[in-house]
Amino acid sequence: MTIETDRGIDRADIAELREAVRGDVHRPSDPGYATIPFNVVVSRRPWAVIDVIDADDVAAVVAFAAANAMTVAVHATGHGATELDGNTLLVRTGRLDRLHVDSVTRSATVGAGLRWQAVIDAATPLGLAPVCGSAPGVGVIGMLTGGGIGPMVRALGSAADYVREFTVVTGDGRVRRAAPDENAELFWGLRGGKATLGVVVDTVIDLLPLTGFYGGALYFDGDDAAAVLHAWQAWTRTLPDDADTSVALLRLPDLPGVPPMLAGRFTVAVRFASLADPAAAATVLAPMRTAAPPILDAVAPMPYAAIGGIHADPTDPMPVFEDSVLLREVTPETIAALVDKAGPTSGSPLLLVELRLLGGAFAREGATRSALCHRGAAANVQIVGVLAPPIADVVPDATRAVLAALAPFSDGARLPNFTASSDPETIGRCYDDDTRVWLAALARQHDPAGVLAVGQTVR
Ligand SMILES: Cc1cc2nc3c(=O)[nH]c(=O)nc-3n(C[C@H](O)[C@H](O)[C@H](O)COP(=O)(O)OP(=O)(O)OC[C@H]3O[C@@H](n4cnc5c(N)ncnc54)[C@H](O)[C@@H]3O)c2cc1C
Repeated sequence: MTIETDRGIDRADIAELREAVRGDVHRPSDPGYATIPFNVVVSRRPWAVIDVIDADDVAAVVAFAAANAMTVAVHATGHGATELDGNTLLVRTGRLDRLHVDSVTRSATVGAGLRWQAVIDAATPLGLAPVCGSAPGVGVIGMLTGGGIGPMVRALGSAADYVREFTVVTGDGRVRRAAPDENAELFWGLRGGKATLGVVVDTVIDLLPLTGFYGGALYFDGDDAAAVLHAWQAWTRTLPDDADTSVALLRLPDLPGVPPMLAGRFTVAVRFASLADPAAAATVLAPMRTAAPPILDAVAPMPYAAIGGIHADPTDPMPVFEDSVLLREVTPETIAALVDKAGPTSGSPLLLVELRLLGGAFAREGATRSALCHRGAAANVQIVGVLAPPIADVVPDATRAVLAALAPFSDGARLPNFTASSDPETIGRCYDDDTRVWLAALARQHDPAGVLAVGQTVR
């Protein structure tokens, strides 16, 4: 018996796709198909995985998807992966690895498959630096399209404000340049709209003449959390715009690679980065050094290449439950709520509860407007819990309890880079109403068949 069906995946011909692209195409039974997300609980079963080698390959995948009523998602490093079903083609960008650093124009041309570490490695020997995030292992394009915030977000602003141009394949299969002087509306929407408006092939970004900073982290015993957090809140009110900080409640496992004085116990990390001269920066930090006795003081003059050491984010994939929210204000009451739900007597199982201070240059729109919203927020809260026994069952409720306690200090807004979700309501909270409507309108214009309408995109 033959069952007639209209579903694209039942009609699609893998031979046709292999014929259309020069990169490798993998079906689920092929050894190259496996694509590990950083959060390993995210389930992804695309119809095929394509290791594209250039813009034409991306365009061919988009055309194939349109012809077969399928969707197209992107994978660079998997740090922001969302669930994908069998109606999706997954474009893997690892082979788009072009990197050119130009010290005369102080810029870098960066292929979509590259991580920040590659740009840091190429630029810093020339005395130049990209405006990157806390984890150099994160993908450049994924971070920029989410309007990235790094450990110097107050001093330098969003990483997306340093983009000069993108080469992008839009949902209608066309390869376009998006820059302030060409396809300006795409240039606006690609910085904040994630993959809503296209698959980026490469970008040109500014490099700054920065060789170092004064920064790192002070670690305190978790029993001192209330004293440290209240001191941090009061101190942040006095911080100059060229100083950045975040505070993290950490319950790091007793595993190889975790520093012994932090492993298997509850600690508090006060991260700091300043572009002022070291003596002036140390004076700014001084009140936090005496907030409680530090168990580790790892703040010092650092080369820019050590920027990943400020947060010391995990580098290996893990099973996690995570959530985030922006705070409108950080008051003593905010801190009391946080200590109550995640402090030393809370019984919290959470790996990380982090407050990143915003403001400064982040609050000011870049030279060319972007779709990054909520620039007036005071801080970003990021929560991560490990979904492994014996705590897996309690992590989601513990996360929700922290968010509920912080709700009086938030409007529920979020940043795209801390919103790896396919839920339209959740994604919508990343944008103000105007931005959401404009992104959706641009998506309809450039992607009438909805080829890119999958994962974390606006429709
Ligand atoms: C440990 C860790 C630390 C982090 N630190 C920061 C930080 O300091 N600041 C910050 O802003 N964010 C941070 N993030 C969030 C990170 O920026 C986002 O998760 C980002 O989406 C990751 O991009 P990726 O390419 O590495 O991941 P992927 O999972 O490969 O991609 C995630 C999404 O990015 C988009 N994307 C990727 N490539 C392309 C492309 N070529 N064209 C169009 N869209 C594309 C797509 O929407 C894709 O679904 C962190 C995440 C982790 C896990």
